[in-house]
Amino acid sequence: MRVGIGYDVHAFADGRSLVLGGVTIPHEQGLAGHSDADVLLHALCDALLGAAGMGDIGRHFPDTDPAFKDIDSLVLLERTMDLVRSRGLAVANIDATILAEAPRMWPHIPAMRENISRVLGVPPDDVNIKATTSEGMGFIGRREGIAAMCVALLD
Ligand code: MG
Repeated sequence: MRVGIGYDVHAFADGRSLVLGGVTIPHEQGLAGHSDADVLLHALCDALLGAAGMGDIGRHFPDTDPAFKDIDSLVLLERTMDLVRSRGLAVANIDATILAEAPRMWPHIPAMRENISRVLGVPPDDVNIKATTSEGMGFIGRREGIAAMCVALLD
């Protein structure tokens, strides 16, 4: 068994869609980024790459590469799984936390789990997603951005 950890953060920006776990969520702002800025999937990719001993998302999908401009991060997750599988590894389970003051995440979590479980090739029961606020403190609390953390277990 191999475990990996991932963390990512993106700032809110006007004129962008908010995409988390491959789900477009109605909100007055989205997240700034070179790709679709799906902070949850980026943390997940880093956890998977970490567990596989294969570096990080920036090494495989650099944000200086025009090929990844506005890319759907579910495609990055698919490519990450190709790398994981090339090492003869499969996902046992993943657990993630979204840190955001707003919007409410719970209505969208089932769809996020469906998207992720489909790409990882595991049942939704093996994809746990949680959300918490930051109780008004720090950059999360000031609604400047959203962070996500994730652990992945491979076998
Ligand atoms: Mg990112």
